[in-house]
Amino acid sequence: MARLVMKFGGTSVATVERIKNAARHVKREFDAGHEVAVVVSAMSGKTNELVGWCKEAAPLYDRAEYDVVVASGEQVTSGLMALVLQEMGMPARSWQGWQIPIFGSDAHGSSRIESVDGAGILAGFGRNREIAVCSGFQGVHSGSNRIVTLGRGGSDTSAVAIAAGLKADRCDIYTDVDGVYTTDPRVVPKARRMDRVSFEEMLEMASLGSKVLQVRSVEIAMVHRVPTYVRSSFDDPTQPNPGTLICDEDDIVEQQIVTGIAFSRDEAQITLRRVADKPGIAAAIFGPLADANINVDMIIQVVSDDQATTDITFTVPTADYERAKTLLESLHGQIHYQALQGATDVVKVSAIGVGMRSHAGVAARAFRALSEKGINIRAITTSEIKFSVLIDAAYTELAVRTLHSLYGLDAA
Ligand code: ADP
Ligand code: ASP
Ligand code: MG
Repeated sequence: MARLVMKFGGTSVATVERIKNAARHVKREFDAGHEVAVVVSAMSGKTNELVGWCKEAAPLYDRAEYDVVVASGEQVTSGLMALVLQEMGMPARSWQGWQIPIFGSDAHGSSRIESVDGAGILAGFGRNREIAVCSGFQGVHSGSNRIVTLGRGGSDTSAVAIAAGLKADRCDIYTDVDGVYTTDPRVVPKARRMDRVSFEEMLEMASLGSKVLQVRSVEIAMVHRVPTYVRSSFDDPTQPNPGTLICDEDDIVEQQIVTGIAFSRDEAQITLRRVADKPGIAAAIFGPLADANINVDMIIQVVSDDQATTDITFTVPTADYERAKTLLESLHGQIHYQALQGATDVVKVSAIGVGMRSHAGVAARAFRALSEKGINIRAITTSEIKFSVLIDAAYTELAVRTLHSLYGLDAA
């Protein structure tokens, strides 16, 4: 007998019919004698609708009330899933985040899980193997006793955190693809499904834009050593495929230099032209941005012909773009730039692979391949196991496909 967490994403619970299909996967595991906790997302599209309602109600909405509204999508699906499981003859009950409880920080809209109390769910397992159907995406802040949500895609994190809290043997993330691919299969039909991917690489892929798993869920899986699989809810429930296992690097036999290509449209570029080139100027720009909680990612500084001024280009999350611009405009008196230019029609394309640690020249090959396709690179960053380029959004698919082929990732 094993203890399992089974998470179903938005498309897997989009209708009552789909919930019934997901429930058949649960029944398979229950009938095999396992203890099962189910974690559900809201029906697909629901969270977007709820976010839209908040903005309509109040453009500068109170984030605590936003959490109350957006957490409701998962309440509906957890109740429906429990009803369907009962109807199929299994003992089941729903659990909201505050009932479990899952405690999170008070950062409304992007709360971090601090602890999961598994006692109530475990008591249910002990009684009659009662299936715990948990609402993903939500928790409660212990100090204020208010509902918090975990950021978009947060149900993945709920699932892995509950698995860690229950000391589960496995966490299965059921979604609309049958595993983690070398890149988004919707963009590159030649993308290949991987049997295994290392925690480190999955962490980079997720943080660089592969939304198949929320970044934080991978962090928790890695820290708590939760064996986590990404698999399809659309498989025949009686003949499921195992999907992709996220595991230790050492457990992967055949290692490629580059294992995946990710891309993110959530990036915007800001350039400050002709800033005085003197000590303290970077601090004057990036200090206030950091104080405003705006994450700066790529930075390039180019000294101009006159040697006295410099152009500084950097990227910020698209969501913070307007805020960053307004802030920098208000700092014009201190920074004295000649012009502020911005662009949101850019995309960051990244290549990831632990093999980069031991191979030189991996990124250089990409720069050449992109230039041969006439793609201009606006900014570059590199680190131990990845590199990223910022390019015009219009070239996203071409760039992703070019790199995917270049590193031998295309399916035969
Ligand atoms: P869910 O609603 O189940 O959480 P998501 O839409 O959040 O599903 O995540 C699944 C989607 O992630 C897939 O449909 C796919 O388009 C996208 N995706 C992006 N990158 C990858 C990748 N490398 N491998 C698999 N899927 C990916
Ligand atoms: N429903 C939430 C969202 O759409 C959480 C999730 O699906 O993981 O972001
Ligand atoms: Mg998701």
